[in-house]
Amino acid sequence: MKAYTYVSEGKFELTEKQKPVLMHERDAIVKITLASICSSDLHIKHGSVPRAVLGITIGHEMVGVVESVGDAVTHVKPGDRVTVNVETFCGECFFCKKGYVNNCTNENGGWALGCRIDGGQAEYVRVPFADQGLNKIPENVTDRQALLVGDVLATGYWAARISEITEEDTVLIIGAGPTGICTLLCVMLKKPQRIIMCEKDEDRLQFINEHYPEVLTVSPEECADFVQANSEHGGADIVLEVAGADSTFRLAWECARPNAIVTIVALYNEAQTLPLPDMYGKNLTFKTGGVDGCDCEKTLKLIAEGKIDTEPLITHTYPLSRIEEAYELFENKRDGVIKVAVEC
Ligand SMILES: [Zn+2]
Ligand SMILES: [Zn+2]
Repeated sequence: MKAYTYVSEGKFELTEKQKPVLMHERDAIVKITLASICSSDLHIKHGSVPRAVLGITIGHEMVGVVESVGDAVTHVKPGDRVTVNVETFCGECFFCKKGYVNNCTNENGGWALGCRIDGGQAEYVRVPFADQGLNKIPENVTDRQALLVGDVLATGYWAARISEITEEDTVLIIGAGPTGICTLLCVMLKKPQRIIMCEKDEDRLQFINEHYPEVLTVSPEECADFVQANSEHGGADIVLEVAGADSTFRLAWECARPNAIVTIVALYNEAQTLPLPDMYGKNLTFKTGGVDGCDCEKTLKLIAEGKIDTEPLITHTYPLSRIEEAYELFENKRDGVIKVAVEC
């Protein structure tokens, strides 16, 4: 089968590989219909994910049809249309039982697919702990509508869930990339009084203004003043930092009102300083990133009910044979790209 492979630092290539087989009684083999490209894939390509293993198939956000399952798999069966979770988790350890599946202590736990074991930018993928890692797609939901469920939407849902948002709140979201927009969709479900989205890219701001006209938008330069002018208590009640740029950590806590919650969803390339003297007396609560992707059944239900729609985020579609072009477009942020679907 064809698989998009991490062949050396800075280089991915479409290669021919053996079709995966069941290796454990809790595995499933999934025939991929659609996969997407994530910025984490680019981090692997450029060597900033040290645990990524050379030779693995890239891809950790995909949907497909179950082809075969191990003897211990009970929740899915061959023929089921499923989403694949970015995280592999056992469902049995201390952290899994508490819902902190990102910290699963199993050796395969955490982000394994498309990083430490073969992922889904390929025709088939082997999914360990299939009862945890696969979710059935409701009948009235298409593969495209479900494509982002396992990764960026899971992250947005988790971020909104832990941020303790109420209907009185002014919520600031920094970063309107794919994860930022998914965060926005999930924050909207909490019906806060006001949502402000901060983003530097003009195309992305335009996308927000077109699709979600009720959301206020602002550039990073004007963000602090704008939030002051558009909130009641000297800043945002809740801030979600999804950008991960050099200055956005500082911007996040500076735009927060005293006693706010600041949720850090972003993954930074560099260490960030926490200047405690500068923020003394602000009494902030910080929550830090690492999605617990165990709410996919809920998000699929919300999609089925028409309450979440991530399909507009898929701006481009390519066949697997042209995945190089898809990466080139995504990496260079050309043509207003937000998310690329790859037909496998
Ligand atoms: Zn990802
Ligand atoms: Zn576990």
